[in-house]
Amino acid sequence: MFKVLTTIKTGPVLLASFLFFGLLLAGCEAGTERDFHRFSGSTMGTTYNVTLVAEAGKPLELDVEALQTGLDAELARINQQMSTYIDDSELMQFNRSGIDRWQTLSAPLAEVLTISQSISERSGGAFDITVGPLVDLWGFGPRAEPEQVPTDEEVDRVRSTIGYQQLSLDGRRARRQSDIRLDLSAVAKGYGVDHIARWLENQGYEHFLVEIGGEVRLSGQSPRGDAWRIGVEQPTLIQGQGRQALALTDIAMATSGDYRNYFERGGVRYSHTIDPRTGRPIRHRLASVTVLAPTAAEADAWATALNVLGPDEGMALAEREKLPVYMIVKTDDGFDDDYSSAFDPWR
Ligand code: ADP
Ligand code: MG
Repeated sequence: MFKVLTTIKTGPVLLASFLFFGLLLAGCEAGTERDFHRFSGSTMGTTYNVTLVAEAGKPLELDVEALQTGLDAELARINQQMSTYIDDSELMQFNRSGIDRWQTLSAPLAEVLTISQSISERSGGAFDITVGPLVDLWGFGPRAEPEQVPTDEEVDRVRSTIGYQQLSLDGRRARRQSDIRLDLSAVAKGYGVDHIARWLENQGYEHFLVEIGGEVRLSGQSPRGDAWRIGVEQPTLIQGQGRQALALTDIAMATSGDYRNYFERGGVRYSHTIDPRTGRPIRHRLASVTVLAPTAAEADAWATALNVLGPDEGMALAEREKLPVYMIVKTDDGFDDDYSSAFDPWR
C-alpha cells in the first residue's frame, strides 16, 4: 500500500514542532527567574514560536499585539519572497524568468541563494536547490504526483536537467543558465528564523528563542536566567521524546531526519530528501543529524546536506568543515550517537 505519512506541508510536522517546543518549555518552567512572553503562529506550512525574555530583575514591557502583527508580517514577506507554494512569489517569478537573462533580486532572496550555492559547492552537490523536479517526480513537493515510484529512465531524464551550477549569482543579480527551478524548502525555514532574530535585535531585544518547524536560534538567556535547553528528539514516530538535551546560547541549531517525512511502498521507505547525485531518495542508516551554526540558514542547509551524505561521508565532511554535528545512527538493535570533534563543547 502506498501511504504518504507526512509531507512538508502536513500536520504531523506541526505537531512535532509543538511537542518539540513543549520539551523546551519543560526545561524552563521549573524555577523560571525572568519575565518572558511566548508568541506563536503558522508559517511555511508549519508552526513558529518566539520567546522573548526580560533583562534580569526587570519586567518585560511589550506591545504584545504590535509584536505579534509584526512577526506575522515579516514572515509573510519572507514567504512571498521564497515560497514554492505561492505561485507569484519572487522565487516562482524567477523560476519563470528568461534563460540567460540577469534578474535583480531582493536582498533576502539573494542572500539565501548565496548561502545555498556555497553549501552546494562545499558538499559536492549533496545540497542542491535545483532538486525540485526530482522531489516532484518522487511524489513530494507542491506539484507532487503521488502513488508512483518512477522508472530508471524517468529518474535519469529528470536528473540530467538539474544542477546548482546552472544558477549564476553576482551579488543581488541572478541568472538561470537553463530551465532550472529553484526550491528553498531545505533552507528557507532557517532563513526565516535568522530574519526574525535580526528583526528582534534591531528592536533592542537580546534574550530570545526563535523557532520555525524545529529549526531554532537562541540568543542571550532563557527564562531561567541561563543557557537555553534544547531537546533533540528520539528518532521514532512517537513524537516529543527527548534523547539529548543541549545547553545553547548565541547559536542556531537544525535537525534533519528521515524518520518522519517519508512514504512507504512495497515495504520500502522513501525519504523526501533526494540525493541529487543519484536522483533517488536517500537510503542509509543515518536516522537524524543535528547541526549547530552561527545562523539557522546555514544549520538548516548543512543538516540537509549531511543527511544526503549519510553517516560516513557526512561525518567526514563535518570534520573537514569543522562543523559541530550530532548524528543518531541506526544499528541492528537500536541507535548509536556519533559526534564531530567540533561538537565537544556541547557534550
Ligand atoms: P529535513 O528537516 O528532513 O531536512 P527540510 O525541510 O530541511 O527537511 O528539507 C527537505 C526538503 O528540501 C524536501 O521536501 C525538498 O523540497 C527539498 N530537498 C530534498 N532533497 C534536497 C537536496 N538534496 N538539497 C536541497 N533541497 C532538497
Ligand atoms: Mg534543511
